[in-house]
Amino acid sequence: MTRLLEMRDIGKEFLGVRVLEGIDLDCDRGEVHAIVGENGAGKSTLMKILAGAYTASAGEIRIDGEPASFNHPLEAQHAGVAIIYQEFNLLPDRTVAENVFLGREPRRGMLVDRGAMEERTRELLAELAPDDPISARELVGQLPVARQQTVEIAKALSLDARILVMDEPTAALAAHEVERLFDRVRRLRERGLAVLYISHRLREVFDLAQRVTVLKDGKRVTTKPVGEVTPPELVRLMVGRELDDYFPPRAGPEGRGDLRLRLRDAGNATISGIDLDVHAGEIVGIAGLQGSGRTELARAIFGVEPLLSGTLELDGTQRRIRSPHAAIAAGVGFVTEDRKSEGLALAQPVRDNISLAWRGLRRAFRREHALGIAELARAVELRSRGLGQEVRFLSGGNQQKVVLAKWLATEPRLVIFDEPTRGIDVGARAGIHDLIRGLAKEGVAVLMISSELPEVIGMSDRVVVLRGGTIAGELAAGPSESEIMFLATGERDIAAPAAAGGGSA
Ligand code: ADP
Ligand code: MG
Repeated sequence: MTRLLEMRDIGKEFLGVRVLEGIDLDCDRGEVHAIVGENGAGKSTLMKILAGAYTASAGEIRIDGEPASFNHPLEAQHAGVAIIYQEFNLLPDRTVAENVFLGREPRRGMLVDRGAMEERTRELLAELAPDDPISARELVGQLPVARQQTVEIAKALSLDARILVMDEPTAALAAHEVERLFDRVRRLRERGLAVLYISHRLREVFDLAQRVTVLKDGKRVTTKPVGEVTPPELVRLMVGRELDDYFPPRAGPEGRGDLRLRLRDAGNATISGIDLDVHAGEIVGIAGLQGSGRTELARAIFGVEPLLSGTLELDGTQRRIRSPHAAIAAGVGFVTEDRKSEGLALAQPVRDNISLAWRGLRRAFRREHALGIAELARAVELRSRGLGQEVRFLSGGNQQKVVLAKWLATEPRLVIFDEPTRGIDVGARAGIHDLIRGLAKEGVAVLMISSELPEVIGMSDRVVVLRGGTIAGELAAGPSESEIMFLATGERDIAAPAAAGGGSA
């Protein structure tokens, strides 16, 4: 018996960085197959390959035994693959029916047959969501998120999808809406669809799926029937390493110096009421879900979108940082999430990149010895073919080292890292972690934003968790993933499905 979907030996590289390797995945008619793994494990990338949004660098896909290779999302759609992303693909100012049939409107003669379109939409919705009637004529933009999601599913059904991918579908839902979504997914199963379901909420995996595949660092760790694995085992498979062996040792109380950064009731348009202390020698991890205000906090401190209320003190002196230029002059460095567009001049040589931030300083701030570019390159253990090499030819890890050297040249007192190892090969990550810890050891205060829980847990001397633009709580060194996720979501059941005793939830 061939499975409806078979993906074999799938690999993917982005600009030479390998993010998927040798992935096998299959899914049957009437099956919900959950895909779990830490942030950055490769789940979304694998699904985008299936949906034709990315092209695989290696491997093959078969649907119903037929080879399928998609160069465009429409090709995947024609083969019966539909994907529902976290950000929906709906037009807010069109009706439900128009969205469901967008580009494929039933016609009578030359004109769109609105009656038929609305009738068909009503049938689909009634079948999919009998408990939550949605009018076919309502504007999609007026619907709450959960109903928009139902419209997305209806659209997939109207496309005769046989394989449906849902990427973290419950991330934006309230608890009571999750139950409804489960009901929809069960109906899809009954109709014989193959459902690939990405989630980091283990309870959902055990409630919904028949099998689960664990991805880690771009590789498949295992695929198992959910009955043959317990939630704690699943967590272990997802994390899969002893954190203490992997990250550089923490500072401990004696490594902590004077108070360097002090925020009180700080806010602007996107963040509010932030009270935060960071000491010299300390790494404070900033955790939180997407949209919780992590990057906005960094941008506020760095003067990109300056604070509008509250106070910011550096080394006991109150400051108004109104621009990145002012931040740099005050001794603040910011290694941004998107080093390619914000942190580096890719077509410029290593040398010029390293002196980039330093050259922005006013003359009075420049120090002679800060210009030892070769020394800085050595300090970050840069591997390049010399200081004249263009940065775009370096690996992700070495590009990140150039960004770091650039900031070292300004002799910063506080450095903010936003997702410091995103897009960096696993092998090179440890090197970046060592450099960040080394910086703290030199007495720099470090704020480190990361979506990767093991990184936050392994690196931080304290973890501050943001939710909804403000601080949800603070945790001492070495918190558990569930403690962080609880604060990040405000939802207690999210990461502790094993609490009841290890069986399926
Ligand atoms: P997950 O969905 O499991 O959190 P992703 O598939 O989004 O993981 O990411 C896997 C890895 O691929 C990450 O290291 C991420 O930074 C990288 N990545 C994803 N998309 C791109 C892209 N368009 N360009 C470069 N790297 C990417
Ligand atoms: Mg993802």
